[in-house]
Amino acid sequence: MDKSVLNDNCDVAIIGSGPAGLAAAILLKYSGIQKVVVLEREAEAGGIPRHCGHPPFGIREFKRILTGPKYAKKLVETALNAGVEIVLKTTVTSLGTEGELSLVSPEGPSQLSAKRVLLATGIRETPRSARFVSGSRALGICTTGTLQSMVYLKNRIPFRSPLVVGTEIVSFSALLTCKNAGIQPVAMLEEKPQPHVRWPIYQLTRWFCVPLLLQTSIVNILGTERVEAVQVSDENGNVREIACDGVLFTGQYTPESSLVRESHLELDPETNSPVVDSFGRCSDPVYFATGNMVQLPRNQARVPIFYLAENLPNPVDDAGQCWSQGRAVAKNIVKDLN
Ligand SMILES: Cc1cc2nc3c(=O)[nH]c(=O)nc-3n(C[C@H](O)[C@H](O)[C@H](O)COP(=O)(O)OP(=O)(O)OC[C@H]3O[C@@H](n4cnc5c(N)ncnc54)[C@H](O)[C@@H]3O)c2cc1C
Repeated sequence: MDKSVLNDNCDVAIIGSGPAGLAAAILLKYSGIQKVVVLEREAEAGGIPRHCGHPPFGIREFKRILTGPKYAKKLVETALNAGVEIVLKTTVTSLGTEGELSLVSPEGPSQLSAKRVLLATGIRETPRSARFVSGSRALGICTTGTLQSMVYLKNRIPFRSPLVVGTEIVSFSALLTCKNAGIQPVAMLEEKPQPHVRWPIYQLTRWFCVPLLLQTSIVNILGTERVEAVQVSDENGNVREIACDGVLFTGQYTPESSLVRESHLELDPETNSPVVDSFGRCSDPVYFATGNMVQLPRNQARVPIFYLAENLPNPVDDAGQCWSQGRAVAKNIVKDLN
């Protein structure tokens, strides 16, 4: 970790070291931009793929099929070899005019001033608290992201027989994680009459012997210390109990845009993303945004191949697409700086 860059100036500061941020940083360095700094709040760089312990990652970028952690490691190595400065355990807490960033790290608060700033903070799933599911605050309730980081990064198993809520692509990634960790979900719930994803992806439920309950929603979580059961309601409003020791909330993505919300930059209330032009530039021309934090309005969004269009949730891009978007916006930053 290079902390010498803090309380200093740089040409481009990139917030977030996922595929989009790192791809942009590498392209900027290859294009001759002198000082490119990537700021990352986690102790390791690489973004979401660090805890997706399954393939396929890297086909577009490295012409190879890699697991998420190997892909993240390769991206980080490429960035460091290109001369990108990656600063870890450093959270950006505010975006000022003229590219003035406020940061917090274990060493305390600091400032970084950049000629251009690229926002690449990604997306996150909607947790239980924001879904208004009633019931107890028992142990064993999490999102896919939390499950994957527990299983793949910390070697911990939060439950053995959870109920999975949602049928987006990430929900099936959660099933794979469960399978790898020896977890057997008791059922997968979907409020709609069909899963979000196309055949044959939802066949995974059959292969893993997980009943798929359509037109069924979760109404209550039961249990005091640990989750013991959930109450679910079917399309006729009939409520029944399913015994389980955890609840896994999957999908319903929202851009990680709290920094933008608190700043002078314009935010699109429909998508929760910063408003950007066709060059990826925000309402303040010093700032650009890329990767999964930039979501298009529903009527302009591209339907990913594995989703049913009529069921489309907040569509998110995969790592390879975010990598391409990071490079595309970085080219615009190079032109802008030159
Ligand atoms: C749970 C989950 C599972 C997924 N599984 C897959 C999968 O299997 N395959 C696939 O292709 N895609 C998957 N995705 C989609 C994923 O979002 C993309 O693959 C890709 O990682 C997005 O890249 P990104 O660079 O836009 O953001 P991210 O990879 O999310 O990186 C954003 C980075 O910004 C950092 N950050 C955020 N705010 C701050 C701040 N204020 N200061 C400093 N750092 C900050 C974060 O710590 C993070 O490292 C998944 C997404 C989720 C949420």
